[in-house]
Amino acid sequence: MTAKKQTDKRSRLKSRVTVNILITALISFSIMGIFICKTISYDITEQVKENLKDIAVIAAGDIDGDTMNSIDSESDPEYAVILDTLRKYEKTNCVDYIYTMKMQGDNLVFVVDADYDSHAPYGTAYKMLDEIRMALNGSVTADKTVSSDEWNKYISAYAPVYASDGSVAGIVGVDTFTDSIDHDMEIIRLHIICLIALFLCICLGLIFGFWADISKRDMLTGVMNYDSLVEQGDRLHKKKVLHEYSVIQLNIRNFKYINSEIGTSLGDVFLVLYANILSGYLGRDEYCARTGSDNFIILIRKGREEDLIEKMSETWIDMSAYNVEKTIQVPLRCGIYDITEKDTMQDSVNYSSVALKHSRSDNSNYITRFESSMLDSLVSDNKIIAEFRNALSSGEFQVYYQPKVNISTNELCGAEALVRWIKGDEVIPPNEFIPALEAEGLVTELDFYVFETVCRHICAWEDKKIKPVTISSNFSKLHLANPNFADSVLTITNKYGIAPELLEIELTESSGYANYDALTSFVRKMNQAKIHTSIDDFGTGYSSLSMLKDISVDVVKIDKSFLDKKEGDDSHQEKMLENVIRMINDLDRTVICEGIENESQLSFLRNADCSVVQGYYFDKPLPHDEFEKRLQNPHYS
Ligand code: C2E
Ligand code: MG
Ligand code: MG
Repeated sequence: MTAKKQTDKRSRLKSRVTVNILITALISFSIMGIFICKTISYDITEQVKENLKDIAVIAAGDIDGDTMNSIDSESDPEYAVILDTLRKYEKTNCVDYIYTMKMQGDNLVFVVDADYDSHAPYGTAYKMLDEIRMALNGSVTADKTVSSDEWNKYISAYAPVYASDGSVAGIVGVDTFTDSIDHDMEIIRLHIICLIALFLCICLGLIFGFWADISKRDMLTGVMNYDSLVEQGDRLHKKKVLHEYSVIQLNIRNFKYINSEIGTSLGDVFLVLYANILSGYLGRDEYCARTGSDNFIILIRKGREEDLIEKMSETWIDMSAYNVEKTIQVPLRCGIYDITEKDTMQDSVNYSSVALKHSRSDNSNYITRFESSMLDSLVSDNKIIAEFRNALSSGEFQVYYQPKVNISTNELCGAEALVRWIKGDEVIPPNEFIPALEAEGLVTELDFYVFETVCRHICAWEDKKIKPVTISSNFSKLHLANPNFADSVLTITNKYGIAPELLEIELTESSGYANYDALTSFVRKMNQAKIHTSIDDFGTGYSSLSMLKDISVDVVKIDKSFLDKKEGDDSHQEKMLENVIRMINDLDRTVICEGIENESQLSFLRNADCSVVQGYYFDKPLPHDEFEKRLQNPHYS
């Protein structure tokens, strides 16, 4: 996945989570706000009711019940006395109106309204008597207690006024308009909204602070991510100190294999441990980022890169704490670029990528420093990659066959299929395009194309009654990371109904521990299907001898460099080659020497008991039609 795609994915995830957190916070705070408003509103109303009750009791105490009994009309002097008494309470605290009511038979009549602007006349039956009755529940005067209630937009409290004989002469009522409570509540609500807004701002601040940190980190390992490394590099560039650094692009060779061995979750644990070790080797002003999968970019002070790579190359990771009985050595691949004064951070990363890419196409050099000539080969590699699929479908890849000869009989005994890219009149050899295809992972398609072409050719020869020989096809080591590799080979074999002994799979000697188990398992499956297998370029890898012991390949192809070295008449080389051939013969494997170009090499190999050879001495790789003729004339003179 590219760094851009990762960033997009990350920011989408970030905004989704941020929005979710904000919505949750908003809902929670709103519920809390409503709850607080309700509680406060209830408390205020209760408090107002209590105050009104107190005032009603005091006002009732101030009115003489006997005087009240004697009042007949508004013009009674007692009326003015009561009015004066009640005016003391008017508009105090939360009081809007104070009034008295007098019992007249069953009727409750209004006596005094303390609000003289709007008071009702004495003796008039209160026009809202029925509503007052409802508000008083019809029994306030009888139970002699102070009551309070809400009535329309008023909160009212009522206290009986007693005459000297203990009878209830009337009721003193106190009203307050609930608007004042509403007004208070409005202010409280505003405060609560302000508080919620403040809390939300704090949440927002925390969330963005959190993301600001998270968005700079790689989610899995906790080291920096690509964007923040580039930002850091840009800062160093602004300070004009970036050229004091080198960039290393580091990749774990065969991580796919490690992942398939220990499983992807432990693969993640493995990466975390690895990133910790890597960061541990860095100084305070050196930086490391993971850019996805097993790829890391390191910004390190110039002169320290060799030391870091040496330490990292010796790294073993012990997985025993995770119930895996494995201590895994971590093989590296690195592209290094020494930053110059004119480079930006992005340039430097690009150049180190070019170096890394170059190291992928050169299996003998895993640590590669950038050289400007690499840019040219990058252009040509990109051209190869861009043209590959079209060329494959339009038949530009053709299969040549190089004969293998049994040197005791001088008879053709097999052939190796070798691919050529035919572009017009130009025949391009595989070494010019296979490394680029291998680095891009495209070579696997080509290998199966060649293998299927071989199967088709064998069928055609059989149809023409031409006796075929065993044909070997080269398969890149990349296939070993594919768990369906063996099945795919068998599917094609079955599709063409080819006798398995006519097919051979050549695998290049594996580089060390990494895909050893996958190689063993693949060879076992081929043995079961009776398809031959061979180890190509034997002697150029690390673990040749143990590989021979453990893996039951049918054929071992000794690399032509063994014979090249013999040119200098180095008797040690000769002895080694003789002994290697003897050992392979003793192990009951067929030994084939590649690259036989002259008579003296041939006689040496005859004496050394090598039975089969392949080389220009007998034939170069031949186009299909020429090889067909060779099949019909298999004897070499
Ligand atoms: P290889 O599999 O080791 O093939 C042998 C190479 O040695 C061939 O080169 C062949 O032409 C060359 N050779 C044979 N006899 C002599 C000789 O007497 N002297 C010299 N100097 N060279 C000799 P070629 O065809 O250029 O192939 C090079 C490599 O390309 C092959 O090495 C193989 O690794 C790779 N290759 C070729 N075809 C395929 C393919 O279809 N798939 C994959 N994955 N690799 C392929
Ligand atoms: Mg080969
Ligand atoms: Mg070879």
